[in-house]
Amino acid sequence: MNIEFPVFSTKTPGVAETFDMSDPVSRKKYFQAKCGQEIEKLKIFFDQGNTFIAYFLGKKNSGKGTYCKLFSEIVGEERIVHLSVGDLVRQANEDAKDAAKLAEIEQFMEKNYRGYMSISECINALLSRDVGSLLPTEFILALTKMEIAKHPRKAIFLDGFPRKMDQISYSLYFRDLINYRQDPDMFILIDIPNTIIDARIKSRVICPICHTPRNTNLLRTKEIGYDKEKKEFYLICDNPQCTGYGKERMVGKEGDDKGIEAIKDRLATDEALIEKAYGIYGVPKILLRNSVPLAQKETVDSYELTPEFVYSYEESSGQVQVQEKPWTLKDDQGKEVYSLMPPPVVVSMIKQMAKILEL
Ligand SMILES: [Zn+2]
Repeated sequence: MNIEFPVFSTKTPGVAETFDMSDPVSRKKYFQAKCGQEIEKLKIFFDQGNTFIAYFLGKKNSGKGTYCKLFSEIVGEERIVHLSVGDLVRQANEDAKDAAKLAEIEQFMEKNYRGYMSISECINALLSRDVGSLLPTEFILALTKMEIAKHPRKAIFLDGFPRKMDQISYSLYFRDLINYRQDPDMFILIDIPNTIIDARIKSRVICPICHTPRNTNLLRTKEIGYDKEKKEFYLICDNPQCTGYGKERMVGKEGDDKGIEAIKDRLATDEALIEKAYGIYGVPKILLRNSVPLAQKETVDSYELTPEFVYSYEESSGQVQVQEKPWTLKDDQGKEVYSLMPPPVVVSMIKQMAKILEL
């Protein structure tokens, strides 16, 4: 990306305790320690019947879903909804095949749709295989409005809109287009190096039986195996509910070894969208960054950094040795960086949000 987001310091004076980010109880204490005041104010804001709408703009695989999940874990699931526009278009494409549901869509559109294509032309586009590129933006907006109406009094994280460059200016008027009361709106922009996405894709694995996702180097299981023939290490499923517990070898998906190759165009578009949104005046922006330059390590606590696991095989004992260290890699500008775990990114989101909402 051509813009560099500022590094947000999550170091909090007086908090010397370390926290385990993967443990929900410890994580709760972590959020209390790092942004407890802001969380309280946000809860009061919601309790008073206020909501907001946030346009989430981040590259594919930048962790939007994870951030939303953590946020709802903090303020309460009943208070927010994460809407993926891509998902809701796909759902509408399914619904349109059902006569009763189609009638419901048509009825809603009679009252709410305004655009250059007729409703029946839009429905034809909706039913086509190439729904993503044929459906006009005005119809997508109306579909989004229809979905939003199902979640009254909830703050909305809108993901996947704008998705194309020509949709950017719609986002400026989005709140008005969907009659979203007078609630505040904001952009949440995520800056994550492609190198991080690439490395994550290359080492992600799942259990063939229970489909638990893990990452060979970044999110390990308890037991690690070593394949002498292929000279490679692999994770062994440790999901207690899985019939493969303690023995099933986790595997990568076909094509994952090529990393971001298959999504390069998408990433480039996402990047251009973020840059464009960054330059917009009048809509407040939350800037999130996933990486921290090595030189700025003092702005974060070491347990907030994504660890990397390095394995070695001991021939004599037949044991796999595991070493844990902070994961470092080069970002897209060639600068050596750490990758942040999701919780500190959410801390920076909450603090910036409280400021925007003037809490
Ligand atoms: Zn399993």
